[in-house]
Amino acid sequence: MALYKHGDYLVQTTDGAFDHDYQPGATAPFAGIYRCMGCGREIGIAQGHTLPPQNQHEHTPAQGAIRWRLIVYADHNAK
Ligand SMILES: [Zn+2]
Repeated sequence: MALYKHGDYLVQTTDGAFDHDYQPGATAPFAGIYRCMGCGREIGIAQGHTLPPQNQHEHTPAQGAIRWRLIVYADHNAK
């Protein structure tokens, strides 16, 4: 679970970008923190970089396939 201390730096949104699961090895469309929806592992990644592949970490059969979902968007356009 992603942690934060100062809530003033985070804003809740209903943006659909947070509802899409990306396949292992896909290009990250946004910079930020992505969560594996199978096991909860989180990664930080830059925009345009490659999300970790299927063999990056192990899942039990019950956890299913690795699928990455954006959970925190890193706003690098802010001034
Ligand atoms: Zn996982």
